[in-house]
Amino acid sequence: MLTTDMSQTKDLGRKIAGLLKPGDVLALTGDLGAGKTTFTKGIAKGLGVDNPDYVNSPTFVLVKEYAGRANLYHFDFYRINNASEVEYLSPQEYYDKGGIVVIEWAEKFKELLPDEYLHVIINIKSEKEREFKFKGHGKRYLNLISRYLK
Ligand code: ADP
Ligand code: MG
Repeated sequence: MLTTDMSQTKDLGRKIAGLLKPGDVLALTGDLGAGKTTFTKGIAKGLGVDNPDYVNSPTFVLVKEYAGRANLYHFDFYRINNASEVEYLSPQEYYDKGGIVVIEWAEKFKELLPDEYLHVIINIKSEKEREFKFKGHGKRYLNLISRYLK
């Protein structure tokens, strides 16, 4: 899937939010400026979070929480240097809280991801083009991709 500007990336996030259910986990991979945070704003919008454009990467805290149709738990591992820094905040505790968990730079600490999650890979194709690829880990996400994200 290709987006050609920021608003299309937000729309894609919003659309995917409509497919999600409580407890879902999304791992976002992509270089700085790929659009991970932009995509997360779209998810927030789709979940009915107030002022979704205020969603911003957690910088001084590991996780930010937003109330919506389901709560959004937004993690960013960018500034985390080793797993022990994350472990004491244990993202695992958020996996069964009944919200939607979105993790930027998730691939840095794969061992902290749950068994099943939706991997969203964003590639920068040009200044304004972003290619989205989806990889399902676990039956639920494989089904979701083959039904809606092909
Ligand atoms: P990340 O969280 O991956 O570092 P951000 O979402 O914070 O990335 O930033 C993405 C940047 O790329 C923004 O400055 C945005 O304006 C720009 N951009 C250009 N084209 C797109 C696109 N198609 N989708 C998303 N962002 C885009
Ligand atoms: Mg970001």
